Amino acid sequence: MSYGQNFHEFARYERQMGYASWGIAGQEKLKTARVGLVGCGGLGAAVALHLVRAGVGFLRVIDDDRVSLSNLHRQILYVEKDVANRCYKTRVAAERLLEANSGAVVEPLVGRLTVDTVESFMHGLDLVVDGSDNFAARFLLNRAAVRFRMPWVYGGVGGASGMTMTIVPGEGPCLRCVLSEAENSTDPLRDYGSAVVNSVVTIIAALQSTEVYKLLIDPASRNRDLLAVDVWDMSFCKMMVERDPICPVCSGLPGAEVGTHEG
Ligand SMILES: [Zn+2]
Repeated sequence: MSYGQNFHEFARYERQMGYASWGIAGQEKLKTARVGLVGCGGLGAAVALHLVRAGVGFLRVIDDDRVSLSNLHRQILYVEKDVANRCYKTRVAAERLLEANSGAVVEPLVGRLTVDTVESFMHGLDLVVDGSDNFAARFLLNRAAVRFRMPWVYGGVGGASGMTMTIVPGEGPCLRCVLSEAENSTDPLRDYGSAVVNSVVTIIAALQSTEVYKLLIDPASRNRDLLAVDVWDMSFCKMMVERDPICPVCSGLPGAEVGTHEG
């Protein structure tokens, strides 16, 4: 791509390409990137908008849900007519995303991430973003990401709290290194039920989107901690996390020896 020959494209992205760590080279990396998004609810809708507006060239989105009234307070891609029409989220999301940036390719999949679908979902992608609402899907994604050595960005919200972590298999802890898979004890946000403050969704989605940009443009600058946010307490807590040398998921990858803290 030559921005000298494509003024329209240059003008669209000039305000972010002007950021020194981004540049024209970064923009070109986004344009050729292929990103997957698991879930198109609160986190997923906001992440999708960020990525497509920023110029990520290809986005594959999987979700089996239809838009409902209780989604509208936080799921910023959807409007009231989508509830009335019982629209599938991924289909209406693809339409809205292309209205925002017709240069993107958005592949909407109506379905769930399962042991049967995860491999085809991840095929040909560079990385995946977690916009799911449950840890079964996240641990499934984590196992597949380790298997395919594919980076992914965990995100979760509950109440006024949220968490995010960037996982690069073999170069730091996987989700299983940090959280137990045993029953509900795995879910740090479980106490909130289905309640969620919409502003924390926006914050976690923005942080996840930023991690995607960094993984694509300058992977060394990615976040290496588990970040916990509470917008009601206005607290931001970064917790250093390390690989579990006996992790049942990722200990077979290089660099898992005891005492190794990779980055
Ligand atoms: Zn692990």
